[in-house]
Amino acid sequence: MSHLFYLSTAARPMLDRAEGIYIWDTAGRRFIDGSSGAMVSNIGHSNPRVLAAMKAQMDRATFGYRLHFETEPGERLAEKVASLCPAGMEKVFFVSGGSEALESAVKLARQYAVVTGQGARWKVISRFPCYHGSTLGALSLTGYDPLTDPFRPLMVEMPKIPAPRAYLDGLDMDDPATGEHYAAMLEAKILAEGPDTVLAFIQEPVGGASTGALVPPAGYMQAVRRICDRYGILLIHDEVMSGGGRVGAFLGGDLWGVVPDILAISKGFGAGYAPLGAMVAQERIVDAVQGAGGFLHGHTYAGNPLACSAGLAVLEEIERQDMMANCRHVGTLLKARLEALMQRFGFIGDVRGKGLLLAFELVADRQTMAPLPPDLRAFNTLVELAYEEQLIIYSRRTRGGRSGDHFLLCPPMITTEPQVDEIMEKLTRALTRFADAHVQ
Ligand code: PLP
Repeated sequence: MSHLFYLSTAARPMLDRAEGIYIWDTAGRRFIDGSSGAMVSNIGHSNPRVLAAMKAQMDRATFGYRLHFETEPGERLAEKVASLCPAGMEKVFFVSGGSEALESAVKLARQYAVVTGQGARWKVISRFPCYHGSTLGALSLTGYDPLTDPFRPLMVEMPKIPAPRAYLDGLDMDDPATGEHYAAMLEAKILAEGPDTVLAFIQEPVGGASTGALVPPAGYMQAVRRICDRYGILLIHDEVMSGGGRVGAFLGGDLWGVVPDILAISKGFGAGYAPLGAMVAQERIVDAVQGAGGFLHGHTYAGNPLACSAGLAVLEEIERQDMMANCRHVGTLLKARLEALMQRFGFIGDVRGKGLLLAFELVADRQTMAPLPPDLRAFNTLVELAYEEQLIIYSRRTRGGRSGDHFLLCPPMITTEPQVDEIMEKLTRALTRFADAHVQ
């Protein structure tokens, strides 16, 4: 009997070892990590340079409390992160995960409002669906009913606007009018809430698990930035999943040249080598808060030298192996192969994403995008069939009738062309078995 418990009740094999894009269980079976865990292991498993950097740091010190010491890995990693972020995003605050990064972002925004005489601003508008973490504060921002509903009433109910799911609404992704249409919903919400009460708007530039790699329509990101500026509202980018290189750029926002006021990264930042995340903020925001006595926030393990040594080595490896270029190349290939599958399987309703943050959605009818019957539990069934093929993929279904079952296909950024073939063979077999058993 195991004494551990988690969200999923599915029994899983015991992990033995992992290398590159593969994971072996103790029975000797080899799985392809087609989702990089939960979009975490961006540079692949057991990278020797990262392991060596961590071992070297372990021999020096594994922990130094941030109120007692600066650490060299911390300083160097902050400098590296600032250099990879757009100009102005100069200030880095380390945490140990995504939810912590989001909570830190909202607290910094709130303290900034208070010290600049805007204390009436406290509401953070987010989108539905979205996922910003599972701690109680982050849950108020999250718009994903399977994980929020059981906890209602939430600590605070934050306002939501619809995510720009143009593919469901039958709108043209490439028409700037589509972007304006969804951005107008933000402006309407700000006006309805009272602009002077709104602190921030938060969005995932490329969606994560809740939307299945949702890509914003043309003009949306720029329009959102303009609206936030018009009402003095801070723009927070949740780059926990889209940041770190997986979209083929260091940040999702970079794909549209849109710079937020505050952003959060995690997942691929520590890349599975250490629990690590960061909030990065515009200098003017941090200066105002620090000038008024300092940011009233922190977590014990944040910025520990071991995690920072891993994060630094991960970023150096991404640069050394030019992994973002590979990610763009292999991502284009994999997306085209997924799109080709739409010819064969009429129940694939949509393929979307950027770089190697890719997803496909299963539906009952591609014309109407009507979802498959919930009883089918396709989100679970296909994952299990793929698992039997020793391919790991990641899935979600949002309740509420409008969203189908979507599946994230996000192998590590080091994936090669022959490995794309291997992934597609396994996925095609799983989809064929799904079609034979469940689709007339
Ligand atoms: N934000 C996004 C976009 C995420 O995908 C996640 C995790 O899936 C989080 C926040 C929360 O991160 P964590 O699970 O590390 O707390």
